[in-house]
Amino acid sequence: MNIFDRIAGRIADPEATAIETREGARITYSGLVARSGRMANALVALGVAPGDRVAVQVEKSVEALILYLAAVRAGAVFLPLNTAYTPAEVEYFLTDAEPRIFVCDPARAEALRAAAEQAGARVLTLDAAGQGSLSDAAADRPEDFATVPRGEDDLAALLYTSGTTGRSKGAMLSHGNLASNALALVEAWRFTARDVLIHALPIFHTHGLFVATNVVLLSGASMIFLPKFDPSAIFAAMPRATVLMGVPTFYVRLLADARLDRETTRGMRLFISGSAPLLADTHRAWAERTGHAILERYGMTETNMNSSNPYEGERIAGTVGLPLPGVEILVTNPETGAPLPQGEIGMVEVRGPNVFQGYWRMPEKTAAELRGNGFFITGDLGRLDERGYLQIVGRGKDLIITGGFNVYPKEVETEIDALPGVVESAVIGLPHPDFGEGVTAVVVPSGTPALTEAAILTPLESRLAKFKLPKRVVFLDELPRNTMGKVQKNLLRDRFAGLYRG
Ligand code: ATP
Ligand code: MG
Repeated sequence: MNIFDRIAGRIADPEATAIETREGARITYSGLVARSGRMANALVALGVAPGDRVAVQVEKSVEALILYLAAVRAGAVFLPLNTAYTPAEVEYFLTDAEPRIFVCDPARAEALRAAAEQAGARVLTLDAAGQGSLSDAAADRPEDFATVPRGEDDLAALLYTSGTTGRSKGAMLSHGNLASNALALVEAWRFTARDVLIHALPIFHTHGLFVATNVVLLSGASMIFLPKFDPSAIFAAMPRATVLMGVPTFYVRLLADARLDRETTRGMRLFISGSAPLLADTHRAWAERTGHAILERYGMTETNMNSSNPYEGERIAGTVGLPLPGVEILVTNPETGAPLPQGEIGMVEVRGPNVFQGYWRMPEKTAAELRGNGFFITGDLGRLDERGYLQIVGRGKDLIITGGFNVYPKEVETEIDALPGVVESAVIGLPHPDFGEGVTAVVVPSGTPALTEAAILTPLESRLAKFKLPKRVVFLDELPRNTMGKVQKNLLRDRFAGLYRG
């Protein structure tokens, strides 16, 4: 079934608010249906047929969200692109995906027109206020639109991965993938029509686009739609809101704000974190200040969400919780693929209706990572504890092999992060003439007094086996992060590649 039909079929009160903007504009569920119908008619008039890609690189706006619904209603494949991508980067995605239309900010249209047309796409515009040639094209279209029927395996979206470990790959997500996952989350997080979500995430990523909006729209809830993360806007929204979905940086930044306390968060029932590891310190500090235990969940572009700490039951810091309803998680030997006993670290594999249909135009990669038995090899390393909670210890690509020993960076990072004067750290392996890879700590100090290499290494000596100890410590003012708050270790490895080469 087309995921839009599922949303439409669950609307109990057409006059209920679906979206509220920071400026106080209110869009009802019937308004969403009408506006997405007009936009879907415009897309069809522009030549968009079922299966065509609709590529979009625009600022967050209600109109941009309506474009997502309209593309899906037209049976097209929605392809959102990070607004931070440069024209040269966008060109790669356009060439790879060959969309029928490409919607971008008017300021970018000229720079990208030739590349888009070369890829067979027509260029339309939409600015941060939701105005442009696309909204003009939709303005006088009829509201009625018969949503194109789609099967569970038909594509709804082509979503490129964040590119944290290398070039982004296009993940093909079906209507069934999106709907099953959103419904599992509605159940796991107890969403109802009374919920009001603070939506401060970008809508080009699985987190803000699918998790946040589909969960809200499938439960008849509403969202306060903020253009970007801004503590003042979040505090202003909290008295009317019930749930916040964020990346760990949101929580770190809100903790740095004196306005955060039990009173400001009183009406909230749930704080959710994902997309990158939440430090145990952040979890603890948040609980102390607000009385709320942040609920951490785990997912990725290819599978939507896999696991979540329980709504009722213990939320354990440093874990990503239990598999979601309908999802199976295995930890396997990375070499043989055989399941490992509970407690051992290995490759995290996931199976369920959430698992994508494969990588766009990469049949070999798809065959290598999507097993015949339906399990997807995530590339993340983890272990299952005795209660069945999953702990992510890092990415397989970040595993350090030094002198024949495996070092899991997170174990070393956790020790370093607990030291006084340390804000955070990233532990990486760098080419080393004797050890193959040398364990290296990149540390962000909190300022005065100045930290020394010895102040990091001496306390670690009694806590970690010798082979796990960093050979060198380098200090940086901040770690490189992508827009989803993920530390880009590949950039650190490139930057310090020559550290041990004389
Ligand atoms: P690429 O695949 O292009 O290198 P990426 O993996 O960062 O980029 P995403 O699909 O956006 O692209 O991110 C998914 C990854 O984010 C997961 O595989 C995992 O490594 C990490 N992640 C997500 N949630 C958590 C979490 N709660 N704790 C730890 N890691 C997480
Ligand atoms: Mg990935």
